[in-house]
Amino acid sequence: MVVRALFTLLMAVFLAFSYEIKLRKVDKDIYMVRGEDALPSLKNGGFISNAFAVYTEEGWVVIDTLSTPELSEKFLKELLKVKKAPVKYTIITHYHPDHWYGAKTFKDAKAKMVAHKKLKELYDSGEAKAILEEANRSFNGLYDSVVLVPPDIVVEDKVRLKAGSRTFDIISMTPAHTNSDIVVYMPDRKVLFAGDLVYYKRIPFMGDRNASSKGWEEVLRRIKSMDIKLILGGHNEPMDKKAIDYTLGYITYLRENIRMMKQEGKFIDEIKQALSDSPYKKDAMYQEFHNANIFRVDMELDLEP
Ligand SMILES: [Zn+2]
Repeated sequence: MVVRALFTLLMAVFLAFSYEIKLRKVDKDIYMVRGEDALPSLKNGGFISNAFAVYTEEGWVVIDTLSTPELSEKFLKELLKVKKAPVKYTIITHYHPDHWYGAKTFKDAKAKMVAHKKLKELYDSGEAKAILEEANRSFNGLYDSVVLVPPDIVVEDKVRLKAGSRTFDIISMTPAHTNSDIVVYMPDRKVLFAGDLVYYKRIPFMGDRNASSKGWEEVLRRIKSMDIKLILGGHNEPMDKKAIDYTLGYITYLRENIRMMKQEGKFIDEIKQALSDSPYKKDAMYQEFHNANIFRVDMELDLEP
């Protein structure tokens, strides 16, 4: 027990110095921190996702909160260096750890938290806590300091928020990457914060138990019809609309090939083998996510008419 406590303390000290969070300006009044393209580990401190903030006359609007309170505290500190202003809203794009688990920092800073209704249901049912504990075991105590917090404002379909002269349309886009995905659209700026729905040269993760590849295709077509000049995602560098075609291309490639092979009577291992060599194999996170995606789509197609 003492050994574990000591280890955790040493690890925390080590982590506090081992990674750096650099704030970058991406557009007028819009800032980001850029996480590594990797799975979470003690070494990267869970800094594997992006977070964003928009400065308005009424204070900061934060989109996503990174994986731990340590990371989000650093993020907030960097924002306050740019402008000492309150955080008015914090918007969580979906329930995954690398987007939600740092949220307490902003709750403590009196920000109103916004998320999908399904995230609140996950929290209220106690399931989110069980998932956190399981993840903490799997990642050797990476999430020891995480305290889950629920949203104050819940999104079912669409919510419009104003902060100063800025408008933020928060739109439900489910089911897709999870059943709790939302995007944040700034109509006057034509900027879309896309969470984990849009990627470029990076494999989307479709292995969540609530993911829907079919729903994701529909969501991407909806996003494609929007007037967008800049896409800010949970894991890439800033993107433009060609990233939507990339993501849609990968999902459709998997669905069409897997459907065809199933019709030919092929089993999952043969399908995996056949798709191990694909046009996407040089892209980021291929090793980590591609097979899990094949499994998921295979299962989904079994249930589709
Ligand atoms: Zn995610």
